[in-house]
Amino acid sequence: MSRHLDVRAVVLGSRPLGEADRIVVLFTREIGRLDGVVKGVRKTKSRWGGRLEPFNVVDLSLFRGRSLATVTGADLVAGFPQLRTRRASLTAAAVTCEAAARLFGDEEQHERVFNLLCRALKAFDDGFAGPALEAPVTLGAVVKLLHEAGFLPVLDQCACCGHGHQAAAFSAAGGGLVCGECVGEGVPISGAAVEALCDAVAEPLDRLRTLPPTPAVAEGLRHVHALFMHHTGGRLRSLRFTC
Ligand SMILES: [Zn+2]
Repeated sequence: MSRHLDVRAVVLGSRPLGEADRIVVLFTREIGRLDGVVKGVRKTKSRWGGRLEPFNVVDLSLFRGRSLATVTGADLVAGFPQLRTRRASLTAAAVTCEAAARLFGDEEQHERVFNLLCRALKAFDDGFAGPALEAPVTLGAVVKLLHEAGFLPVLDQCACCGHGHQAAAFSAAGGGLVCGECVGEGVPISGAAVEALCDAVAEPLDRLRTLPPTPAVAEGLRHVHALFMHHTGGRLRSLRFTC
């Protein structure tokens, strides 16, 4: 295998590495999630280091060393400038990118996830009404990522017994809605939150972006976050619930 690699990637995040370098967390179209090292970031900032800001889509040249891949060049494909001017859009992007970074393992090709991330960032850049955690498009992005990871919440029947009883609660351990007989450790869920979750699964992000924000969406997001924590073992740090 060639040690040089050209990929298109969404920058999910970054963190310092030692005094002068940075690690960029990438989701590539070609090989899925990947960490890349940017050497001497202060020096490269003036050339192309600034193109590696979180939420950018970039074309990258990589050199694969023994452990980590080093970024040797970057061209900007999409920078989503409007996203960066709105707090709600930034929050939605941070939640979505953190979820993607945590749900998928290193170097598993998953082009649908790459495309989903690009669509989500475009939708956040186009804008939406209300706070991020009440916006149907934020819930939609997280639910669709869970779907791609194999953790789509069961919404059309009881996740435990399979019967079509009316939903009484949401069980993260059970994997979705549960009926009155299986309620167990489930958490009560409102009918409006069930509807918000169904919309998040069924509707495209472009459409979800135009739907009004509601507290039921935030409730749905709390249940989905419980499902995320059940599968990943940790919280989404970008989420700041007020209740
Ligand atoms: Zn049941």
